[in-house]
Amino acid sequence: MKPKSDEDDKRPHFAKLKYHFGIKLIAYPSSAQKKTIKQNSDAARFVYNEFVALGREGWNLRRLEKSLIQNQAGSRNPEWFDLALKSVAARLKVIGNQLYNPTRLKQRFKWLDKNKRIDSTMLYATLNFYHASWNMFRKVHSAGIPKFHKKSDSQRYSTLKTNNNIRIVDQNHLRIPKVGQIRVTKIPDWMMHRIDIEIGSATVKMDAVGRYSISLTLGSDQAFKEELPKTDSKVGIDVNVENLYTDSFGDVVENPRFYQKQQKQLQKAQRKLGKRASRAKKEHRPLRTAKNYQKQRKVVAALQRRVYNQRHNFLHYVSTALIKNHDLVVAEKLQGKNLLKNHALSQRIQDVGWGILFEDLAYKAKLYGKAFTKVDPKMTTQTCHTCGFVMGRGGTRKLTLKNRVWTCPHCQTKHMRDHNAAINILNKVTV
Ligand SMILES: [Zn+2]
Repeated sequence: MKPKSDEDDKRPHFAKLKYHFGIKLIAYPSSAQKKTIKQNSDAARFVYNEFVALGREGWNLRRLEKSLIQNQAGSRNPEWFDLALKSVAARLKVIGNQLYNPTRLKQRFKWLDKNKRIDSTMLYATLNFYHASWNMFRKVHSAGIPKFHKKSDSQRYSTLKTNNNIRIVDQNHLRIPKVGQIRVTKIPDWMMHRIDIEIGSATVKMDAVGRYSISLTLGSDQAFKEELPKTDSKVGIDVNVENLYTDSFGDVVENPRFYQKQQKQLQKAQRKLGKRASRAKKEHRPLRTAKNYQKQRKVVAALQRRVYNQRHNFLHYVSTALIKNHDLVVAEKLQGKNLLKNHALSQRIQDVGWGILFEDLAYKAKLYGKAFTKVDPKMTTQTCHTCGFVMGRGGTRKLTLKNRVWTCPHCQTKHMRDHNAAINILNKVTV
């Protein structure tokens, strides 16, 4: 076999760049630009849903194909099966063409082509997005197969950079396809001054409150941030529902209960929204024009946004501190551990946002020249880190969630359960 060379690497140029970075800018579109954004967001949803429908049909046809092949073997009428298989294969080919080549989709839906405001690279970005959600399903089955996108109060679409269609005009303006020159919050100085940075794509969004933003993906062969100084320190972290995590030094980072605190406020606001919706319905007024309903909808959206922002800011702060203070951070892979624990906890597990924390850690480790690894959590709770004895063996009882403190029956070391687990998690990589 030939060794893998650069020429064999089929990824697009942007993906091959060594470093990637994301930046979000608040945008201030004019009313004409708002219309264009809405049209592209609607078209992106339409196209995405078309991909989902085609993908599902393809998925079902492949299953049918399999069973036809199986049944043909013992059949007295194999010619019939040949015919059936042929027509299945023909349809699969049509589906394949459309799922990998959006130009065919444009031929089917002429308005995508004729409407001068529709951004054609949006089609490719939407297709990438669709394939990415399939890949996510293949990796994490609980993610589910791609679902249809419903109409919502928010808008969103992405566009890919080709030639010079997405570019920085000046420190307060971007140019994006079809929308044209759009005013944004100040673009950071470092981005203005570095010529090595390339833009990969732009995602235009309007949130439920009506605020606009543009997120850019950036790539470069040079690092976006200077590497942080090495600290010669390593840390393992054990996540738990009682706190955000306990580390291998025995320090506990508490869980802020933003969500729980604001939950009540949010529930109250949502109840009010429900009442206003049913009142409008009773009076046969469409929700879109029901003023009181729309006012309350914005209140709810603003509250949800606040919860989201606070949680993200907190996790951002925690992950930065971990990466700054240590050269290596080790955590556990989550799925295995969650299965061991009971299901009632799953809501709170989502609340805590470990997924976000781990994503942050992986991203920042790469950005700042540090390392972040996840290990299989098997036995990390039950093993004594001092002597290696495993609880549950030799007639001893396995530790449960209630045993926060325990003593090793073999070497008599007294352990804080999560501290001991964090040390074992770190040891899986370093010992
Ligand atoms: Zn021991």
